[in-house]
Order: sequence, then C-alpha cells, then structure tokens
Amino acid sequence: HKYVYDFAEGNKDLKDLLGGKGANLAEMTNLGLPVPPGFTITTEACKAYLTTGREPDGLAAQIEAHLESLEREMGRKLGDPQDPLLVSVRSGAKFSMPGMMETVLNVGLNDRSVVGLSAQAGGNDRFAWDSYRRLIQMFGKTVCEVPGEEFEHALDDAKRAKGTTNDLDLDADDLRGLVDAYKKIFVKHTGREFPQEPREQLDLAIRAVFESWNAERAVVYRRQERIPADLGTAVNVVAMVFGNLGADSGTGVAFTRDPASGAQGIYGDYLANAQGEDVVAGIRNTVPLQELERIDKKSYDELLDYMARLEEHYKDLCDIEFTIERGKLWMLQTRVGKRTAAAAFVIAGQLVDEGLIDLDEALHRVNGAQLAQLMFPRFQLDHEFQPVAKGIGASPGAASGKVVFTSARAVELAAEGESVILVRRETNPDDLNGMIAAKGILTSRGGKTSHAAVVARGMGKTCVSGADELDVNVPAKRFTVAGQTVNEGDVVSIDGTTGKVYLGEVPVMPSEVVQYFEGSLEPEHVDNALVRAVHRIMTHADATRRLAVRTNADTGEDAARARRFGAEGIGLCRTEHMFLGDRRELVERLILARTDDERESALAALLPLQRADFVDIFRAMDGLPVTVRLIDPPLHEFLPPLEQLAVNVAVAQERGEDVAKEEALLAAVRRMHEENPMLGLRGVRLGLVIPGLFAMQVRAIAEAAVAVTRDGAVAKPEIMVPLVGAVQELETVRAEAEKIIAEVVGDSGVEVLIGTMIEVPRAALTAGQIAEAAQFFSFGTNDLTQMGWGFSRDDVEGAFFWRYLELGIFGISPFESIDREGVGRLVRIAAEEGRAARPGLKLGVCGEHGGDPDSVHFFHEVGLDYVSCSPFRVPVARLEAGRAVL
Ligand code: ADP
Ligand code: MG
Ligand code: MG
Repeated sequence: HKYVYDFAEGNKDLKDLLGGKGANLAEMTNLGLPVPPGFTITTEACKAYLTTGREPDGLAAQIEAHLESLEREMGRKLGDPQDPLLVSVRSGAKFSMPGMMETVLNVGLNDRSVVGLSAQAGGNDRFAWDSYRRLIQMFGKTVCEVPGEEFEHALDDAKRAKGTTNDLDLDADDLRGLVDAYKKIFVKHTGREFPQEPREQLDLAIRAVFESWNAERAVVYRRQERIPADLGTAVNVVAMVFGNLGADSGTGVAFTRDPASGAQGIYGDYLANAQGEDVVAGIRNTVPLQELERIDKKSYDELLDYMARLEEHYKDLCDIEFTIERGKLWMLQTRVGKRTAAAAFVIAGQLVDEGLIDLDEALHRVNGAQLAQLMFPRFQLDHEFQPVAKGIGASPGAASGKVVFTSARAVELAAEGESVILVRRETNPDDLNGMIAAKGILTSRGGKTSHAAVVARGMGKTCVSGADELDVNVPAKRFTVAGQTVNEGDVVSIDGTTGKVYLGEVPVMPSEVVQYFEGSLEPEHVDNALVRAVHRIMTHADATRRLAVRTNADTGEDAARARRFGAEGIGLCRTEHMFLGDRRELVERLILARTDDERESALAALLPLQRADFVDIFRAMDGLPVTVRLIDPPLHEFLPPLEQLAVNVAVAQERGEDVAKEEALLAAVRRMHEENPMLGLRGVRLGLVIPGLFAMQVRAIAEAAVAVTRDGAVAKPEIMVPLVGAVQELETVRAEAEKIIAEVVGDSGVEVLIGTMIEVPRAALTAGQIAEAAQFFSFGTNDLTQMGWGFSRDDVEGAFFWRYLELGIFGISPFESIDREGVGRLVRIAAEEGRAARPGLKLGVCGEHGGDPDSVHFFHEVGLDYVSCSPFRVPVARLEAGRAVL
C-alpha cells in the first residue's frame, strides 16, 4: 500500500488523499515552481493509525525511503552534526480546520547539529540558535502540549534582560541561554529531556499530526461544519528553507488580487529576516509586499511572474506563502484564497471578462449568504469613527443604541421607543426578552456558536460576540474598553459583519447593492465594480433558474418593494394585520357576538377594510399571482392578555365603574384560553367554527380582484387555507368559497384559485387525497418543522438550541435551513403524491426556508414551482435558484 507520495507524484485534484496543502504543493512542483523538495504522508496512513492506534505496516519503511531520497537530493542528512538537513512537519487536511495541529519547523536540530547549522550558514551562530529555540518551542507546544505561554514568558524575560522589545536584538548568546530555559520548561512539563535524535523528532511530530485529527476542538468544529469525521489528515514533510538568515532573507504572504475588494493589484505582507510563523504572529511590523521590489527586485519580479501563472492555472484568486533565502525565492504554499463577499462577486466578474471562466462558473463561485451580507445596511464611516474593540461578527447588520446591561432595562427602554444595545459578558436563556427588545447584542465572551450568536442569528438581529477587550461590569452598569468607561445610557454602534465596536452613533446607510436592487443605481452607468458584477451574475441566475421566486408581503408597500427586488408574485399574504390596530374593536365585537345579527354586523364592518387592503396589494402586483392566506392565528391573540384584562376589570370595579363589557371580554378570553395555542383553535379550524369569518375574507378578496380588474389591472388571486390536516376540512371551506366567488366574479373574467397550505404532517401524508380538492399546495415549512419535530419555535430556540448545536445534533437550526431527511421528506412525499393525484399541481413554499440558500436547492430538487420569502431575501433566492440548476 502506498502511503507516501513525493511532491512530484501528486496534483491538485488529490486533496482527499494528500490534503489541500499537499495537493497544492505537488501542483506547484509540477508547474515547475521552486518548491523545496519534500513528500506527503497520505490521509489513509492517518486513518489506519487512528483505527489501530499504531503506524500501519510499511509506513516506516516508506518514510525512510522518501527521506533518503530527499537527503540525496539536498546533499545533506537529517540532523547531521556537520551539515544538517532540517525539515518542517506540516498538517494538511482536505479542509483547513482550526484546532488541528500546527506546523513544526526546524525538525532535525539538536545540541550538535545546531553547530553544524551555524557553520552551514557561514558561522551565523545567531541564526542557528534562533532556529533551535523555535524548534523546542513549536515541538513542545504542538507535539507535547507544553503550555505556549511558558515559552512566551521566557522569551519576554530574555528581551527584558536585554532592555529591548525586539527579538532581533537578542544575540547568539542570549538565544543559547533561551534554549536552556526552553529545555527546562520542556522537562518540567513532559518529564523527559527534549529528544535529541532527529528521526525520533520526525516520528513524534508525524504521530502528533495524526492524533490532532481527534483533538477535541477539531472534533467539535467538524461536527458543526458537517465535515465527515473519517477523512483524516495528511502530513507534509518539507525541506527547510530559511528566511531568518539575515537582511537578504525574509518571508511573506501574497494574494493575486485584493481579498477584501477583489481589485487587481499586488497585495501581501513581507517581513525581512524572519521565519514563516512570524508574519502571522505579528511579532514585528511587516511591510507591504510592494516594498519587496526595492529590497530584492529579482525575487520580486519572479514572485509576480509565479503569481500570474498560478492565477492563470487555478483560474481564481490564489493566496501564497513564500520565503526568500539569501536572495533565492521559495514557494511554500498556495491555495484558492478566502475572500470577502464583495470580492467574491467582483473577482467572478473579472474572471469572466478575462475569459478565464464562463458565466455558469461565475454563478457557481458566489452564493446567497454572500449576497445577503452585501445587502445589510452599512455604517457610514469617516475618519471620525475608529473602532474601540473588535469581536466576532456573529450576526450581520449595523446597529446603534443606548447601552443597557440587563434584559429588564432593555425591555423598559425599548418600550419608551429607544434603540438599545444589550451588553453582557455572555447571554443565557433569561436574557431572551432583552434580546428581542434590543437592536443589537454585544458580548465580551463566546464565539459564533455562543448563545448570543445563535439566538441573534435566529432573530435576524445584529450581534457582536467575544469582544474580549471589553471589561463588562453588569452590577455597576458599565464597561471599560481602551481606557474609556461606557455607562448605561451611553450610545455605541456595533457592526455584526466585521465585529467592530464604535463609541457614539455611527450613521447608517443602505448598501450599494440594495440601492441597485431598489433601482436607484443603474448598473450600466455606475462606476462600481461590485454593482456591475452583481448585476451581471443576477441576470445570469435569472436566465438559468427553473424555480420562480415570490415574496411574503402583507401590504401594498412591501409588495411593491419586493417586486423591485425581482419577486414574481406573492406566495404568502397574511391577513392577520388586517385585524389589528383600530380594527381590534371589530374583532372584539365578533367574538362577543351573542346573536347571528351581531356577528354579521361585525363582519360586515370588517369587509370593506379588508377589501381596501387587497386592492392595494393586487394593484402593486398587477399581472402577478397573489396567494392570500385566510386568517390563521387563534382569535384571542387579537384580544388583550388575560392578566391585563383581569387587572383592568378589578380596578374599574373598585372605582365603581360599569364593567359589563370588560367582564364579558374577560369571560371570553378565559373561555378561549388554550394550553397549546399552536395546536389549538386556529387556521381552518377557526373558519369551520366561526360562521361567516372565512366567507367574509373570501368575499373581500374576490371583490377587490373584480374592482382592480375594472380599473384595467390584472389580479390573480389564489386563496390559501391554512392548517388543513384532512381533505374534508378543505372540501367544506371550498364549497362555501366557490359559491361566493361565483356570485362576486360573475363575468368579470377574474379567476380565483383555491388551494391549501401543507403544514400539518398529516396533510403531507394524505397529500394524494388533499390534492383532489386543492388547485395548489404551498408548504408552510415553519409549522411543518414545529409539528414535525415537536419544537415550539418561540420557546426552544433560546432555551436549548445552542446546546444541540454544540453537541452536533444539528449543524444548523431546522428553522433556519430545512431538515432534508425529516421535514424535507414530508415535503417530498406530499409533492410526489399530490402531483400523482393531480398532474401539474402547482407547488410552492412560503415558510422562511424559502429564502435560505441550502433549502432553495432542496426545493429545486423536489420539483417545486416556486419559493416565497421576505422581500429582502428575494435576490438571495433568485441567485440560489440559479445555482441550484448548475
Ligand atoms: P499553516 O497551515 O498554519 O499556514 P504551514 O504548514 O503553512 O502552517 O506553516 C507555518 C509557517 O511555516 C508558514 O509561514 C510556512 O510558510 C512556514 N513553513 C512551512 N514549511 C516551511 C519550510 N520547509 N521552510 C520554511 N518555512 C516553512
Ligand atoms: Mg500555511
Ligand atoms: Mg403556519
């Protein structure tokens, strides 16, 4: 079995076997770029080691053989006392993964070869001892789990003793002393001497990389990211080249385009006289890569040439690690580089222009999450505003408001109409009300999967988590940051995309991309690479997709905006808001009606109001279908809450006022009280229990459609009955509705469809029967998820979803992204059986999943006709519907 590949034997498509780093090192080698020689131990060797607990048979011999040929090629032996070959041992899985073991450089150094290394470098003792102390540090930390701070402290002590803060001021003797100090630390923590045998160093480092696959952080990360647990990691053994040999040496990173904006040009950092990890560690200040032209023109030109070749070859933005050893350039890593959302669009557009990729590929390379990011409002930052802290951008958006430290205070101030930012060390389920009331959430602890982050994302609320520069003192109602104190009531601004925190109120403006979708920026006339790229890719997505995209909108205004965003109809118009505000009183009358006459008069008063609402919506959606859902929530939701009513009645009685009406209301609310309103008297059940309610709505819809048609517009109403679980429910409602429609529509030419939501699991499972009575289905995946999992959405997200995510029970909330295997299966069954019973049955989805990228792909796969989502999500759904076809 072949466990070891020379770089010359691999290529970029072997990432499964060689890991990302190894596959790309092989690719560069075969392109003829100067990669230091080396070899890759495969992920299969790692897997074998992890299942049996020991290196597989033959691995040691293969490593030996490849090491020998490496030694021959380099003309040096690993750790040779006179003229040592040194190597780096680098982990590299298929996906880059935080928590995996990092790299060990300078393997092969010991008390004797350190002398040989110095001689090799022309008597450069300083360099040799610096390399040795780095080995002990990295080996100790990553292979033997010695706490890294101990080494850091010893280094700081050495610098302090020398009266400097710059590691370059330490001379050979200082570094020799540091090696002694490091060795003592090593012994203290491992109970053994630092291994002097080069081959033992190598074997231990390789084994540590294997084992790091199962390090706790790596395991948790994989679960969350849904990376399979059985891929294993590869190990790269690479001949060392030295950037720390003096001023003519150095190390750096380079990007073939700006990963922030996508602009063409030269981007990167360079650090003279340093080894690779120094650039990232920020020990000294790097210089911009352009300066390398002045420092070492030959290497610079060569690097630019390689960068151009790599881009041409990978047909994408590449990032690169390189090292210069005494004027000789070495390439140490490349990969297709990470980029911001804006850069992703801009680069995809540029590459099409350059003829490197076609539009399909450009569409494939961007995604809806990136587009969504580009649509969040922006802070209008000028020099006046400098961030005071940077945490994790946990839930995007831009929010400003008064600082509060408790949930109760957040609720209070928000009720007074203030914008508030809830600041906590971390949040917990008790903070939920405050989080709902706040415009944004800021915590000093916790990452992307902390309670604050998960709940905020669920609510679509801006959140910065883990801003650890903040010292939050909740009892004292203040926090300190960057030497300043911020008290309750002071204003801060947080950017949930960048994680930055500002003092004061930073003005907010709509993003350019939203201005484009709104129609206020014309792509052809705009000198804006991002808008042009978005326009081009969206146009291609629209031309490619099969799914139509509709919107969820309840008012004419929302409908008009969604239309500008590209909505091709309304998939869900809720009618609940038509019972709120001034109209509550009519609902009260309806509920309290003791006679048919009283009830009918209440309904008659509601009819013209509803009709006017529908007229607005049909006008805004002239020519496009509008799906109206008959009233869904339990009626008592439109009445004051029980406790409040009870108090009002008691107070009024005390004062001796006439409380007959309030008492009747209170009795009604008591009567209608439900333990599980979610599973109670709502949806179609209401329509069947309260005579005339659905009839009034159907009439309002039909009359509005006729009125709009008379004015020359085209109304295409689709009436949707919620919460149906049995075909008999739908048949009953439909019979009544059809009579009314026939009567109202007459010969106006208006056509009204009648269909149902599929949101109760039983409806999905009896879809064949229900289809006999339905002209369309619309999947209500919010309720279908609630009832499918038995999760009450309003209760569970804050209560325990964070724990489920932490445990990897799901990688993402099933309310955010459709649960393909469970809830998705119900959708699939209903789609198939519905269409079998009624060929051509129109199918759509109107749950919030309609705007979720992964869910859109699923709905495409199961053959729905359209998705419907909130207006702001419409462009995301258009883009993903296009990508789903590729
Ligand atoms: P990471 O995946 O964290 O970037 P790498 O394996 O790329 O880890 O290595 C860490 C640093 O060490 C990088 O800057 C890399 O360029 C440098 N490095 C790795 N191998 C060598 C080598 N053989 N010679 C010189 N520098 C190296
Ligand atoms: Mg690297
Ligand atoms: Mg529902």
